[in-house]
Amino acid sequence: MALCFSINATTLPQHHHGKVNYRSNKKCLESVRNLVKTTGVASVVSAPQESLQKGNWVKLICGASFEDVVDVRNLSLVYTLAGVDCIDCAADASIVNAVNEGIEAAREIVYLRKPWVMISVNDDEDLHFRKAEFDPEECPLDCPRPCETICPASAISLQQHQSTTELSHGTEMLNVLKGGVITERCYGCGRCFPVCPYDKIRMAMYTRDAAATAELLKRNDVDAIEIHTGGRQTASFGGLWNDLGNSTGYLKLVAVSLPYAGDATISSMNTIYTMMEPHLPCLNLWQLDGRPMSGDIGRGATRESIAFAACLAAVKDKPHGLCRFAVLSFFATF
Ligand code: SF4
Ligand code: SF4
Repeated sequence: MALCFSINATTLPQHHHGKVNYRSNKKCLESVRNLVKTTGVASVVSAPQESLQKGNWVKLICGASFEDVVDVRNLSLVYTLAGVDCIDCAADASIVNAVNEGIEAAREIVYLRKPWVMISVNDDEDLHFRKAEFDPEECPLDCPRPCETICPASAISLQQHQSTTELSHGTEMLNVLKGGVITERCYGCGRCFPVCPYDKIRMAMYTRDAAATAELLKRNDVDAIEIHTGGRQTASFGGLWNDLGNSTGYLKLVAVSLPYAGDATISSMNTIYTMMEPHLPCLNLWQLDGRPMSGDIGRGATRESIAFAACLAAVKDKPHGLCRFAVLSFFATF
């Protein structure tokens, strides 16, 4: 068994919105070039497929719902320079453009092989595909705003404003909160939800459109897909797979992400593989979580993931494909 890791970039403590002006600073570029050369990144990066098969595949996870184009572009630049094999991003054309822009900017600094670009979609409700929402004008002014401080993506911003209200005897100035969730930065981790003392926060679920996904897969700068499914039943996966039609023929990797959902999970995986096989032109990968989660791995997640791995290792009729288990930030490849 080999160990490799993935990186969830939305948890990194940097949220600068200015683009890196890499053209204007030759000295800085030279330092980056030297750093990449002295660390030997260029000599250790293998083709993404080879890394995957060897078990040393590294994937940057920008987040299935993280849609801040500037951060996604800059993260893609930095992690391409670091030699990642794959960059996993939201299934949205502007985000795919941002990832590719970051990759090309990195390759202008140091010529490295291209990482694969993977888009993440869902076949039904899934924790990765949700956004927090609330109306700030409903928030009490004296709320200490724990939602704002707990958000790891700086996706909640509140400011106090004065608003004029028309009354029968004239107008009145009232203080209200404005701002709220910055939708493109929210990646649905759910941390803000339980800390609100007034139950003002809702989580809005959404499903990526299959026709739009199929169009993205036909682009020559998209290499892989990750399909998030629930693991209990396979009908919604079958529906999405059919809707994707021949667009899957353009791919280098199809990953299916699912949590352990009881005894039926492994039989669901076998059914899913049977559905995919006639139109699967490439490697398939199972990305397995011990329980449903989204970028926010809480207590016990590692134990549950290891239990899932042990369960899968014990069965004779294993699903076809590579397996990777989410264990903190590590994945295990059998
Ligand atoms: S769910 Fe809440 S805490 Fe998590 S990223 Fe979105 S706004 Fe921030
Ligand atoms: S914690 Fe709740 S009530 Fe307080 S500012 Fe945030 S959403 Fe509003």
